[in-house]
Amino acid sequence: MTLEIIKVDSARAYPPRTTAFTEPYWLALGEGHLQTTRCCSCAKLTYPPKPICPHCWTDQVEWIEIDPQGVLYTWTRIHAGPAMFAAELPYEVGIVDLNLGLRIAVRLVPREGHDFKPGMAMCMVVLLYGDGPLLAAVPA
Ligand SMILES: [Zn+2]
Repeated sequence: MTLEIIKVDSARAYPPRTTAFTEPYWLALGEGHLQTTRCCSCAKLTYPPKPICPHCWTDQVEWIEIDPQGVLYTWTRIHAGPAMFAAELPYEVGIVDLNLGLRIAVRLVPREGHDFKPGMAMCMVVLLYGDGPLLAAVPA
């Protein structure tokens, strides 16, 4: 499933640090695909992606594309944030439980006519800034 891509006319306020291992994640996200790692031994998923399975400690993991649908576990509106995010205040962040069992802390993007409420259906989207993508969630 390809994620909705929302273009943002600025650079990311706090760009993620990428590594050779996380590069596939960021490249896929920029094209609208949410990926993470699955353990080749115990089959458990982890997010964010990890080169070593935190459940059984093997380094045999594979990249898979995951379903971006879930429900909002909790959320908050940031009115006084770190200086680097001052231009974006106020903004919302939350925790989304993906239907496949992963819990993700993520930026929330409001939609007209929707108030954030725990338990509401959410879908991941890509915020495509001038210097790269970030993951976010919108009401489904
Ligand atoms: Zn494992």
